[in-house]
Amino acid sequence: MAAAANQQKQLSLTEDLTCPICCDLFTEPVMLGCMHHFCKRCISTYWRGLQTPVSCPQCRKMYTTKQFQTNYLVTAMVEKVRATTSDSYIKNGEKQLKESLEAHRQRRDEFLTVIRRDKERKDHIKRTGSELQARVQGEFQALHAVIAEQEASVLEQLRREQEAALELQQRHLEAVQEAVRQLENNMRVLQDASTSQDHMALSELPQLRATIEVVPGPELDLDAFSSRYMAPLQYITWRKMFKSLKPVPAPVTFDVDTAHPSIHVSRDRTIAVDCDVMAPCQPNSKRFLQCVNVLGTQGFQAGRHYWEVGVGTKAKWDLGVAVEGVNRRARVKLSPETGYWTLRLRHGDQYSAGTQPWTRLPVRCCPQRIGVFVDCEVRRVSFYNADDMSLLCSFSNGPRGRVFPFFSPCISDTNQKPQPIQLLHYPPCSLTD
Ligand SMILES: [Zn+2]
Ligand SMILES: [Zn+2]
Repeated sequence: MAAAANQQKQLSLTEDLTCPICCDLFTEPVMLGCMHHFCKRCISTYWRGLQTPVSCPQCRKMYTTKQFQTNYLVTAMVEKVRATTSDSYIKNGEKQLKESLEAHRQRRDEFLTVIRRDKERKDHIKRTGSELQARVQGEFQALHAVIAEQEASVLEQLRREQEAALELQQRHLEAVQEAVRQLENNMRVLQDASTSQDHMALSELPQLRATIEVVPGPELDLDAFSSRYMAPLQYITWRKMFKSLKPVPAPVTFDVDTAHPSIHVSRDRTIAVDCDVMAPCQPNSKRFLQCVNVLGTQGFQAGRHYWEVGVGTKAKWDLGVAVEGVNRRARVKLSPETGYWTLRLRHGDQYSAGTQPWTRLPVRCCPQRIGVFVDCEVRRVSFYNADDMSLLCSFSNGPRGRVFPFFSPCISDTNQKPQPIQLLHYPPCSLTD
């Protein structure tokens, strides 16, 4: 619409600037007293050979002299119209239009790509969300199933105990009732005999049935019966549930054969601490010789595993998993590329994911227990603040093949007393049965 209007305007301007004699755009336009314009050449030619007075070719107004005036304003306008209607000008305009159109098309195509990507991402989020929902439901269903099973089992045991007690009581009741019947029978016989007129009958005692001996009734210890079910049922059930957790916290222990000579491991292999003096130790291909590292005894290559490490207020440590084949004789930078998936602490409050370079993590509080979770099936390694079970970081490019829990107590600063790292076992061993 705007383009058509512009074209119309241009046409009418061209008409206004057209000489009525040569019917072309003015060349050197001049103006007569009547304000009519002509090309200087056209009006000069028109008047040539004519005697004064001469007339305006357009309105016929008579002039006593052949006089006209150059109109610079019209000259400038003519030049402008000529320039804007020239081939090169039009071509240039068309080129600009095409370029602008192409730029718009490109921009639109870019946006269409973004829209497609956004829609794909939305689909992906929906798919992932549903998968996760199913997973979460599965986890809770498993817990519900354990509780339901426990509930059914406890109720069934209660029902059986109650029935057995009732049955015993019933049998005793029936025995006593039978004894009463017998006694009453005998009583009737004796009664009859005592009222008989037959003296012969009196000289001889009537035949009586032996009375039934009734043993004392079963004494159900109702108190003991109640006590069995007035127990801390929730805790007892939780203890039983704990064993069916998947994964149940793994009772990981330190593998002393892998420990760097500066690491002292407790007799029960759950506490490791760095020492100034290197302990003499057996030569061993499994041992870390350069870095102050130690592995767990238990390796994992399938399923899901979780364990917790007590780090207390220790100012630096590295924790995680390492593949079996890590180089134990060289100084190695910890990263997935070198076979380590780790979380590290430095300077007491600077937490990083063990990538190269390190990825700093925004951890506000300082967890005293760290949970390590390895899902071998989906190759994921995650770290939790085990004080509140909030996620600290997660690697989705986890290990292939067998991995071992990995620990580095690091070398404590010279002015600080070395603090241990401890493998936490839940529930405490004495409670597991
Ligand atoms: Zn003309
Ligand atoms: Zn005129």
